[in-house]
Amino acid sequence: MATATFPKKPPSPNNAYVVEHVEPTPATQVYLPEIFKGLGVAMKHFFRNTKEMVRGERPDPVTESISQGITTISYPEQKRPYPERFRGLHRLTQRDDGSPRCVACLCCSTACPAQCIFIEAGEYPEGDARRGYERYPVKFVIDELRCIFCGYCVEACPCDAIRMDTGMHAVPYDSREQFIYRKDLLLAASGRDGSHETANPRHEPGDESHPGVTRHHMTH
Ligand code: SF4
Ligand code: SF4
Repeated sequence: MATATFPKKPPSPNNAYVVEHVEPTPATQVYLPEIFKGLGVAMKHFFRNTKEMVRGERPDPVTESISQGITTISYPEQKRPYPERFRGLHRLTQRDDGSPRCVACLCCSTACPAQCIFIEAGEYPEGDARRGYERYPVKFVIDELRCIFCGYCVEACPCDAIRMDTGMHAVPYDSREQFIYRKDLLLAASGRDGSHETANPRHEPGDESHPGVTRHHMTH
């Protein structure tokens, strides 16, 4: 019969902290001395903090760093500002006419490691200059519960159609269904600056200034 061998326990480091065993006695088991000691520490901080608050000596918990002596804030009345680089929830950017910039190329859903983006692509209607040139998302769904906020979808998008610049953190909903963000909600979200578009230029089909190949160039 095969026997399993386990690696030997590594030796204790020289600086290991040895915990002293204390025999339980009635004095240690009633915990009263420790309770009064803990209350003493709490009251000391309470009176010191109150005194500093009354004198206006307390640093602003929202704007001052934790290292300046305050570790708690009155959340949710007070909130620490997010760092500049905080991205936030997704949004879909719009064109000037309000339609999505997304061309349903599926690059974002392909790049997504959490596989939480679902896109159903559709053709623009007959007569639309974009028909046969690019598609649009009939459905665009992100499961924010599965998202790991890696930003790969934003990096993968060739159209700057999906962004994580809302500055909003996930809302604590009480049902899973509410974490399923659909196209309308994603299009309605705005960036930190309040815009629904993006400053990046976009060349529409038929745009004479378009430097790339158009459908007309493709006819032989
Ligand atoms: S941020 Fe990452 S996990 Fe979330 S949708 Fe984009 S690619 Fe997927
Ligand atoms: S959001 Fe961007 S990457 Fe995703 S399908 Fe639309 S155009 Fe493609």
